[in-house]
Amino acid sequence: MGRTGVREVVLLTLGWVDLPRSESVDGAPPEERLREPVPGVLLHVDGGWVLLDTGFNTALLRDAALRARFHGDPAVRAVLPGPGEPLEEALAYAGIDLADVHAVGLSHLHLDHAGGLRLLAGRPVHCQRRELEFGLSARAEEHGVLRIDFDDPRHDWRLADGDGEIAPGITAVLTAGHTPGHQSFVVDLDDAVGGGGYVFAFDAADLHAENVEQEIAIGGRVDATPEECVEQVRRLKAIAAERGYPLLPGHDPVVWPVATRELAERFGRSPARPAGPGATWRRGPRR
Ligand SMILES: [Zn+2]
Repeated sequence: MGRTGVREVVLLTLGWVDLPRSESVDGAPPEERLREPVPGVLLHVDGGWVLLDTGFNTALLRDAALRARFHGDPAVRAVLPGPGEPLEEALAYAGIDLADVHAVGLSHLHLDHAGGLRLLAGRPVHCQRRELEFGLSARAEEHGVLRIDFDDPRHDWRLADGDGEIAPGITAVLTAGHTPGHQSFVVDLDDAVGGGGYVFAFDAADLHAENVEQEIAIGGRVDATPEECVEQVRRLKAIAAERGYPLLPGHDPVVWPVATRELAERFGRSPARPAGPGATWRRGPRR
């Protein structure tokens, strides 16, 4: 009996964030800055598409008062791809209707990952229980976790306490540290499309060279030490090595666009558009 798995993977870039490199690399000089892509992942499974992460809540960026409250840190600047709704536009470009997204998986509830959830009310939403508990706590907002992004009572929460399969071929792996209930995802491709797969770290590792190869801790952590965050990366590396899958970090300005193009080629799609500032087709030296 063949394994049932994911039939297609489409990577999305739902915006960018200009920020100090120290957010991604523990101990980096504060003046060094990066423009990182905001990731989303579409996975085709039996019954439709599963979306991993949803980008920014554009209302909180386009309304001046909301922006001042929720994006008030001048050191961290959100960049949208254009005047529209990034998630809708990225899906439209991929030829996928929002109605065809049947379930959502959230790596964590940071404002650059949970902000598009408001467009998907009523779907099953897979998240770690402790992440939602943190998100609804009084100290969440100071950490960039905004309950307005995810407190719609119509959401159909599917809360996990640890690792588990959320759909055929999509396994959540609890990688707490960046946030208290951060999860990464292991994607097993269906034998019908050649098998293999990918490990998506999301914010357990932002950058390939520093966080994955050199095992320098991410800078952004909640209730976790640098060592604990590196341990999560080692766990993901072990899973990837055991299965022979690439481990893709969540916010790498070079790796993400390259992987986007490679996956588009693998599945016979026209390459995703090189939209907006920060997009690059240059192959990184370490891939
Ligand atoms: Zn994050």
